[in-house]
Amino acid sequence: MKENDKGVHSAAGIKDLSIGEAEEVIRLCGDKPYKARQLFNWLYERNVESYDSMTDLSKSLRFFLNESYHISPLIFEERQISALDGTEKYLFRTRDGNFIESVLIRNDGTDDGRLTVCVSSQVGCAMGCRFCQTAKLGFIRNLSPGEILDQLCQVRRLSGLRNNNVVFMGMGEPFNNYDNVIKAADIMNYTFGFHISTRRITISTCGITPALERYIEEKRMYNLAISLNDTLPEKRVMYMPVEKKYPISGICSLLQHSLPHSKNRVTIEYVMRKDNIGEDDAKRLKKMFRYSRIKLNLIPLNSGDHGIELPEQKDIEKFMENLRIMNIPISIRNSLGSDIYGACGQLSGIRYRVAG
Ligand code: SAH
Repeated sequence: MKENDKGVHSAAGIKDLSIGEAEEVIRLCGDKPYKARQLFNWLYERNVESYDSMTDLSKSLRFFLNESYHISPLIFEERQISALDGTEKYLFRTRDGNFIESVLIRNDGTDDGRLTVCVSSQVGCAMGCRFCQTAKLGFIRNLSPGEILDQLCQVRRLSGLRNNNVVFMGMGEPFNNYDNVIKAADIMNYTFGFHISTRRITISTCGITPALERYIEEKRMYNLAISLNDTLPEKRVMYMPVEKKYPISGICSLLQHSLPHSKNRVTIEYVMRKDNIGEDDAKRLKKMFRYSRIKLNLIPLNSGDHGIELPEQKDIEKFMENLRIMNIPISIRNSLGSDIYGACGQLSGIRYRVAG
């Protein structure tokens, strides 16, 4: 296996192909390009594990595909189920021996009836956020589109459940792997792929400004979530080094001038620590987003070996009250799966002992 210039392992995987690319492959095999839709239906809708089951494709096409493209780039290693809330964390091994995690979340409190899969977009992460466990791994490599999509295939198969919501909030910074993330999201959305509505796919970023500009320019419809976490640049930079290169002020002015095309409001994620939930923080938040159509998602800092003080419940309540008075739409993301290290910022691809 070789690595290409994007740091992705290039062993051919069928789930790395867009519908157009699959049509081309099939056409070159002398078959009708529309067969690609049947192929996608088998891969994503019916979620099969072998070409043998694809009975409406010709034997010769199945033989060719089997010789040329593997179906599953991920090897399932382990599943942990939270005793607290039923959240399921899945550990997968990539073909080159890296570990990634995905999480199945039954209901995170933000919207009833959602069944969410939280997918990883990279092995490790280069962003170095102080509170995040994935950052400790450093950046190893980007995941290919197929490795992102196969997380959904495998979680669906192993859980027996069909998720209707996807968040790119697992390991990695999705906007540092822009092309592969968008390609995977497009296949999730595609009628002959997973057919998940664009409004049910959320890409979360710590704020890579050029990628965000590109995203808006390309009129992508997926929901956007931006990890703010602090209102003062000098404080934010202490927790999120990305602030140095791409200051949040730039992102705020971008959001004031050119709105993303998603019909949903942009979510501003705010990880609550002990020291960023005062009245002044609430005021600054109000000021920052005065002219933008956003909603605020509050996430209580989850434990880890970051050594940062967790917020107290009474202070969280006060902060929420302050925000409410200022008319900022807010939701709180309950920390689910924390006993299996499956909550926000706890994914590391390492087998943890179940806490308890
Ligand atoms: N790199 C992307 C997506 C992954 S993190 C991003 O930064 O948005 C998904 C969310 O979890 C982010 O909002 C991040 O700020 C938050 N997070 C990270 N570590 C956390 C922790 N220890 N407790 C609570 N939330 C955390």
